[in-house]
Amino acid sequence: MILSERGAIRAAIAHGGFHLYPAGRIIEYIKQSLLGDELKENFDPIRTVEKINSVSFAIDAFSQSVFEEDKSLLCSRLKEMDAEYDLESLFSKIADSIPALAKKYYGIEGFKPSVPRIVEYFFQGYNDLYKDADWFAFNVNNAESKELGVPVGAYYKRDQVSPGMTEFSILHEANHAMQEIASLPPGVHHYVPWLDEGLADIIGRMMIYAITGDEKLLRKIKYFKTEIEVTDSRKISYHFGEQLACLMLMRGRLPLVKALLKARKEHAFEIDWGALAESIKSGIDPHIGIINSYKGTKKDTFQKKIMRDESNFRKEADLNQNDLKVLTMFLACQPPAALPPLEYKTAHFFMEAIKKEHSHFIDPAAIPEGLRHNIAGLQPNSAFPLSELSEGIKKKIEGIETKIAIKESDIPENLISGAEALANKYFIVKKRIGEEILFEPYGGGLPFRLASGEIRCAW
Ligand SMILES: [Zn+2]
Repeated sequence: MILSERGAIRAAIAHGGFHLYPAGRIIEYIKQSLLGDELKENFDPIRTVEKINSVSFAIDAFSQSVFEEDKSLLCSRLKEMDAEYDLESLFSKIADSIPALAKKYYGIEGFKPSVPRIVEYFFQGYNDLYKDADWFAFNVNNAESKELGVPVGAYYKRDQVSPGMTEFSILHEANHAMQEIASLPPGVHHYVPWLDEGLADIIGRMMIYAITGDEKLLRKIKYFKTEIEVTDSRKISYHFGEQLACLMLMRGRLPLVKALLKARKEHAFEIDWGALAESIKSGIDPHIGIINSYKGTKKDTFQKKIMRDESNFRKEADLNQNDLKVLTMFLACQPPAALPPLEYKTAHFFMEAIKKEHSHFIDPAAIPEGLRHNIAGLQPNSAFPLSELSEGIKKKIEGIETKIAIKESDIPENLISGAEALANKYFIVKKRIGEEILFEPYGGGLPFRLASGEIRCAW
């Protein structure tokens, strides 16, 4: 099949490295600028790049320059991308590994994943009830098959398919099919989004990593979540579920989760699933949370059953180191601080200034007292140029590279208010030495803030 333009653009964004946060907003922005072009046409490296190049962003010079950098990164990736994408052969590569994973994570034998069906809309060929729905994929289970008149299986919307995301999606949808066997009351439509989607997300990610061992793919899948899906309210609601599922797995591990899923199959309507979510979020151990959420009349029997099932499931596999790696990686999804473009550009000015040694000064107070008399021309009330210190003295000032200061008079005029704003956030330290104002980038930890990814540029 041929990728859509938005499918290709998403895949290019999922390689990371963009300034603007969230990077996925660039898709919405391009659509608006092209007056409602939904980017659902077939992707063509030359034509799509031309289209994107025609888009400009001009609120002010700072935001425009950040946008142009991001745009050129996006276009350079799209130029290299293949428009053809073979979902079926991708599936056949993955399919053989799935039954063993169904056994490990859900305790079910002989699982057979459905071959993906690609549709232009839901549910092409059967009904048009969800013609306007823009889901990535949908697993139709037995209860839904009766309700919708659509055969059981995993359906993928063609113009949503995006390399990287689809690999994970195959597993996400397969998880729903496993859940139907392991945890749904037979023949009944029973949907607990945080539990069903949350586990399909986190276990789906564990499974794709178990199959491929591909770190790059895993990172891409995380970028899909943190940069693209965050622009979609429906997916953000899934992220709540994934967080709960992660917390539940961290505290209860696989044996308890399997016992909960079994209890769901047998007592779906006696458990308050919303109360269980609330208790997990409140930090209550899910072993206790599940008992407190039981609303039936046989609490003691229920508790004993959960304990017995959990200890039986302990004889099977539990999470391994790779699973825990995926678990923590996808729990660590705190969005960055998105700074106004002026402040963001100023932060990068300081990062460049750090590299230019000739512009560095040092506060005399930062030089150990015993060394000061060895430095000719050093005045207590005047910032001293680092270039005038001998190599021998520099070596004796511990952590000298974190003490560098940049004079306000060395900052371009149009960035001075940016430096003020960064100082007011204590992202850099502002000092008066004698008559002069100076800024110390390391004082407020700015280089570490940029390195840890906690700072990006706002749209
Ligand atoms: Zn789902």
